[in-house]
This record gives sequence, structure tokens and C-alpha cells, in this order.
Amino acid sequence: VFYADTRQELPPLAIAAERIMAQLAARGIRCEVVRAPLDKRFLVYILGRGVPPPNNNTLRWCTRQIKIDPMAEALEQRLGELDGKILMITGVRQGESAIRDDRIAMSCGKDGAECGQGWYQEVLPNAKGIRGRIATLAPLLHWRVCNVWDWLRIYAPMAEYGGWATAAIADAYGGDEATEINARTGCAGCPLASKDLALDTIVASSAWSHLAPLKGLKPLYRELREPRHRIRKAGLERLKDGSVAANPQRMGPLTFAARLIGLERVLAIQAECNAGAAKLGRPLLDILNDEEEARIRELIAAETWPNGWDGDEPAADMPMDSYFSDGSVQPLLV
Ligand code: SF4
Repeated sequence: VFYADTRQELPPLAIAAERIMAQLAARGIRCEVVRAPLDKRFLVYILGRGVPPPNNNTLRWCTRQIKIDPMAEALEQRLGELDGKILMITGVRQGESAIRDDRIAMSCGKDGAECGQGWYQEVLPNAKGIRGRIATLAPLLHWRVCNVWDWLRIYAPMAEYGGWATAAIADAYGGDEATEINARTGCAGCPLASKDLALDTIVASSAWSHLAPLKGLKPLYRELREPRHRIRKAGLERLKDGSVAANPQRMGPLTFAARLIGLERVLAIQAECNAGAAKLGRPLLDILNDEEEARIRELIAAETWPNGWDGDEPAADMPMDSYFSDGSVQPLLV
């Protein structure tokens, strides 16, 4: 069993995953936790390297980087130890639209699903190093949210079905109202989901209300994408082949000040959740550990910029002449 740990998982899901892996290990099943390398983890990439939080339009780097690539690498390594092909069982679901849709939705933002589920089915088997050696089976393909909920809440915990620690996952899907809520699960404060349905559902229960400060993540990610926190290309950008880039003056990475603001805010959110958890005797939140914080500070101190940026570009909120891709310029009208 491979578990992709993004380090941003909703806490009840992460805790349930740990418990289920312990149960599996007790039955002799090998479990591996798969994570992106330190510099590519969600918060280190944003706050250390300065890449803006992902969004649905121009910059959706997260799913592949923190889930699919680490999983492909782990599978490639494991395949190297085995002969022949492997069958990968995924939790991909088409749900209610199964009859209408004839292909599995690739969308990361599908309701009632885990972020990235379509990627596991369609992208991962074709990843470099494992292509052709892996077949996928999606036994839950036609399950509806209510089937998933019944399994997690009623059947799986029963001794005759294995006595699995799945109840907390059902809560993240919306508990008794799972079908109506249709929450999509993934990272806490995911900037791509329009609403924090799963997080809202979790913090509404008394057992998890101390995680309410996590609601501050989504507004933080949105704020960090604003021009005042970023730099931009000054004028026309020439590509290596001499042609002009399609989007002159595009906005780019986060300033160092913005990264430090973000870092302090995430640390404060985590500290507030953990103060509540300590009072209630609940598990502590860990979305940014000491190693990751130190690496973020190190990358900022080393003045690290993403590829293609030097850091001497102007602030993105500075008024300047407008450049167009046909080479025309509209001077600043002041
Ligand atoms: S849950 Fe959101 S932030 Fe996390 S990998 Fe998916 S799209 Fe990205």
C-alpha cells in the first residue's frame, strides 16, 4: 500500500490513514508513505522558492508535484524489485455522473472525490519509468457518495469486514449529510476548491473545532497571489529561440517580504490549532515542521527565485507602460 502524504492533508484523514496503515502492517501488508522531496513540498515551494500558490487558471502545479510524481517515483522503485507487471487498485470514482460520462474526470476539483483521483487513473500509469508495467483497477468506479459513506461508517468498522479505522474519514466526507455536502477531500485550505466543504464539515464537529484556524489558509493563499506580494516581468520577454513570450509583463514569484508574511501566518495558524489541541488532549497538527521551516528560511536567506526570474524585476503593483505581444507599447497615462 502506498500513501501519498502531501503534508497538507485534512487532519482526520491523515490520522485515519496512519491508523489504517498500522492495521495493515499488523496483518503483514507492507505500507509506504510517499512524500515530495523537501524543496518540492507545498509550503516550501511557495514560501521558500517563492512560487505563488496554485490556482485553477494559470498555475496548477500542486497535484502532480506533491501527489503524482512522488507516487510514480515510489512505484518505479518498487517495480524495479519485482518481475512482470503490477495491478494498481485506486479509489477512483465517477459517482453520480458515471452513466453520462464515458471517461474518467481528470478534474482535481470534482465534488465528492479526493483531489487527484483522475490523475492516479490516467496520468500515473503513463509516467516515465512505469509506463506499460502497470494496469489499474478502480473497483469503486460506480459507487455513489452514500455507498462510500456506508462503507466507511458502517461496514468497514465491523469485525466481519476487517474492523478498519475508517469512521473519521466518513466525518470528513460530511457525516450523516455526506450525500448533500458532497465534500471533495484534499489539502487543508486548498486554493483550487471553491469552498472548504470538507474542512467546514470537520471543524463543525466538537472533536475537531480546534482546527478552525485552518480556515485562515485559503484567504492567505488568495492574498499571496495579489500583485502587491509579487514581482512581474518589466516588458517584452524574449524566449531562448528569440520569439516573444505570449504574455508580456506576466506576474511571477512572491517577494521575500510576502514569503515571510506567509510563513509567520502559517506558523501562527498551526500554533493556534495546537494550543487548542493541547487543551483538549487531541492530536497535534503538523503541516509545517521544523525542518521545512528551516529550509524555507534558508531558501529566503539564499535569495532563491524560481527558474527564469532573477529578483531584479519590478514589483507587480508598480504602475508602468503596458507592453503587448505584437511589440506595441501603451505608455502610462498619468
Ligand atoms: S487538494 Fe488542492 S492544493 Fe492539494 S494537491 Fe489538490 S489541488 Fe493542490
